[in-house]
Parts: sequence; C-alpha cells; structure tokens
Amino acid sequence: MQPKMFCQSCTMPIDNEIDRGTEKDGSHSDDYCKYCYQRGMFINPEMTLAEMRSVITDQMQKREIPEAILQNSLHMLPGLKRWKNKEK
Ligand SMILES: [Zn+2]
Repeated sequence: MQPKMFCQSCTMPIDNEIDRGTEKDGSHSDDYCKYCYQRGMFINPEMTLAEMRSVITDQMQKREIPEAILQNSLHMLPGLKRWKNKEK
C-alpha cells in the first residue's frame, strides 16, 4: 500500500494524480494539491496560517466532516512544509 499523500499546505488527502497541483513545467507537484498550488505558485501566496485554519474549518464543517478529523488537520497544519518556517 502506498503511503497516503497529504497536501503540505491544507492537509487535504491527495488520492489521485489529478488532485495534485502543478509545477511551472506542468508536472505534478509532490507536495501540494491543485486547490493550493498551480504552475509552481501558491494560488493565494499571501494566505497566513490563521487564514488557512479558518478556511479548513469552514470547508470541513460544510462537508460535515467529524470534529476529530478537523482537529487533527488543524493540529497537523503548523508542521506542514508550507507553514513550518513561518512565524505563525
Ligand atoms: Zn492544498
């Protein structure tokens, strides 16, 4: 079984190639989903960790994702590649 890949920006599980973001040369990103990353750039490069938290909370609540999963994702966020080196 392949290890499950998570977007290193928003924690979304990436099960299919088609959900991956793209690099400048059009290849698939190994780190980010298509909602965060296109053509080698973040779609919303100014986004802060706090904003990402509220986006994820919103989306998961809309989709009625269990609270435990939401909390787990929020907990993972600061350790992800995109946020690790930021101050908050
Ligand atoms: Zn993402």
